Amino acid sequence: MKLYLRILAYGKPFMHYGFLGLACLVVYNIFSIFSIALVIPFLQILFQQGDAAAMIDAARASSDPTLLEQGYILVADMILEQGKMQVLIYLCALLGISITLKSLARYLTSYFVSPFEQSVIHHMRTRLFDHLSILSMSFFTGKRKGSIINVLVTDVQIVQESVIGTVQNMVSDPIQMVLILASLFIISWKLTLFTLVVLPVTGLFISLMSKSLKKRARAGQERLGILIGILDEFIAGIRIVKAFGTERFERNRYEEMNTQYRELVVSLKRRSDIASPLTEVLSVGVIISILLFGGSLIISGSKELLPSAFIGFVALFGSFIQPIKTFTSAITRMQRGVASFQRIEEFLQIPEDVKERPGAVAMPEFKDKICYEEVSFSYDPEEPVLQSINLEIRKGQKIALVGPSGGGKSTLADLLPRYYDPVGGRITIDGVDVRDLKVTDLRGSIGVVTQEGILFNDTVLANIAYGDTNADIARVQEAARIAYAHDFIVQMPDGYQTVIGERGTKLSGGQRQRLSIARAIYKNAPILILDEATSALDSESERLVQAALEKLMEGRTSLVIAHRLSTILDADQIFVVEGGHIKEHGTHTELLAQNGLYRSLHDIQFRD
Ligand code: ADP
Repeated sequence: MKLYLRILAYGKPFMHYGFLGLACLVVYNIFSIFSIALVIPFLQILFQQGDAAAMIDAARASSDPTLLEQGYILVADMILEQGKMQVLIYLCALLGISITLKSLARYLTSYFVSPFEQSVIHHMRTRLFDHLSILSMSFFTGKRKGSIINVLVTDVQIVQESVIGTVQNMVSDPIQMVLILASLFIISWKLTLFTLVVLPVTGLFISLMSKSLKKRARAGQERLGILIGILDEFIAGIRIVKAFGTERFERNRYEEMNTQYRELVVSLKRRSDIASPLTEVLSVGVIISILLFGGSLIISGSKELLPSAFIGFVALFGSFIQPIKTFTSAITRMQRGVASFQRIEEFLQIPEDVKERPGAVAMPEFKDKICYEEVSFSYDPEEPVLQSINLEIRKGQKIALVGPSGGGKSTLADLLPRYYDPVGGRITIDGVDVRDLKVTDLRGSIGVVTQEGILFNDTVLANIAYGDTNADIARVQEAARIAYAHDFIVQMPDGYQTVIGERGTKLSGGQRQRLSIARAIYKNAPILILDEATSALDSESERLVQAALEKLMEGRTSLVIAHRLSTILDADQIFVVEGGHIKEHGTHTELLAQNGLYRSLHDIQFRD
């Protein structure tokens, strides 16, 4: 319950709507019970005779008539004064008004509660996204990646299902139950006590049955999940399936699960089909025993109950079952939502590991040099990835990192824009530790081009001027020209306004890369990181991309991670990184002369 209230707390800005809705809900409940109870005076008019008249006379004589008796007397007096027909018209009008008000109250309830419920989910989504955007890189590259989407999509969905509607039920149903029970007591406490004994027994039986159904339904869901999993794997691995000719094998696997699923669903269906008639028989059993007991009270002339009140009792009792049912189902739904909500809260509690220090300073213009001083780093405390790295990048230089894959080159570069922070040592820009700079300033002064050329599903223009809502079109075109991208862009159907599809899938690798370069040119950051920017390309696209990169690097300071040595022969300094250490450094000629690791990498690549 506490957790449930915490879920609802997300709707705080719309809380007043929630309360208005609940007020309407109370009005709705009162009128709906009142409308049912009106059946009693109706019947009194139509069937007042014999025993009933005698009972009303007795009530009149009593010094302390009950609420119900006062009602009888009121109606009887009105009939005496104005005639049955007139009172009937009054009652009909009252019923009409009561039902109209009840419906109005119900409409107003959802009118007010809906914005509240939706705002709970809206704010939860926003909070999650906000948190997602401050989490450090290690979160996204770590093992937990797969579950992010699950939390952000599925769990929110489940919470949504558990919140929508249950707010009303959680409040309305208890009110309704209490009101109905009170009315039943007013009509006849004996009969009410009797039903309170019979009802729980049947209730227990019904709830046991529905539990067993739920268990099967869950098993069904799991099988369906496996079935979808097989399908997914089949599609993803279709090349291998075809190459190994295992279509038949995969089909059998699928078919087996498909059969299991069918059998389970049939058995589930049969069980759930029996649930409804069985529940009906049981409920009718309850009603029959009430009819028997109440009827006997009337026939025995115990003056306990007028026939009209008895029918009113049965009608009210009939509407007692509904809130019980919806209330229990609301509780189950709520519990499911609470489990998902716990995962959401866990996610929100993941700490932000790359934090801006209080008092971080604005980054001054880059003037002199970047230094790595005794930098060490590890993703996992057991396994050092970088150890005692020292390197210096002077303004305007092109520095290259080369070496076998897994050596730590990307990690070394990632430390500069603070995707991660070093475990030991420090990185300085013009003598200032990067951790003392404002993160947005630091990242704003570093342009990045990666191997994949990451693009967004938006126009070419928006991709080049990424993040700039008032893009300067002339500058965008200029950047595209420098990046050798202008020509292919203008040939696209809508030129710069062409939407390039998810992750730029409509473009070739080289085109994507040139757009990324144009983006970096537009950003005009003084420092560049080029991480294997040409590795994924064929040599023809590589030539153009390489030319674009050369333009990009002009007048900037760049850190280039290169797989192909041909792209960095002219670097001012080349660092050979292996096993987290800098093994060699120098210019191309110096390194060749050293006859070490660089030489052997070089010889392998240039052998052909
Ligand atoms: P390179 O760029 O030289 O290929 P990386 O910097 O990518 O090397 O990787 C260095 C080492 O760090 C490798 O052993 C790699 O498995 C490990 N590594 C890289 N990224 C992560 C990560 N996000 N979490 C854990 N280990 C990682």
